[in-house]
Amino acid sequence: MDIERWKSYLDFNRWNMKKGNRGRRGYRTSSIIHIAKERIEVLLNESEVMAKKKDLHYMRRYVDIAMAIGKKYNIRFPIEKKDHICKKCHAYLVYGVNSTVRVRNKKKVTHCMSCKHIFVKLIKQN
Ligand SMILES: [Zn+2]
Repeated sequence: MDIERWKSYLDFNRWNMKKGNRGRRGYRTSSIIHIAKERIEVLLNESEVMAKKKDLHYMRRYVDIAMAIGKKYNIRFPIEKKDHICKKCHAYLVYGVNSTVRVRNKKKVTHCMSCKHIFVKLIKQN
């Protein structure tokens, strides 16, 4: 994780707040959203690494922290990451390691191996 970069963003935000009425203020400014999005991405990437190492505790912990940040600052997960999270047990699913994906009747069927939960998603037809 790149802590120095996060610190520089925080300093930027503090400088921005000092200027007073310029731009939006409050807990959900554009720079804070930017930091939150970056942290979510870093945490999910780290969770993927943990899933590949089969460290289940930290895999779930990083996903939970990322979800908490998303809830606090009202930020959605990117679509390509959203498909990799089990809705039931919050595990990060790496296809072939702790989950299986099959195509059945034009639907994508994902099977979480740690909680045996199955979720089905329609595949877009172009
Ligand atoms: Zn699961």
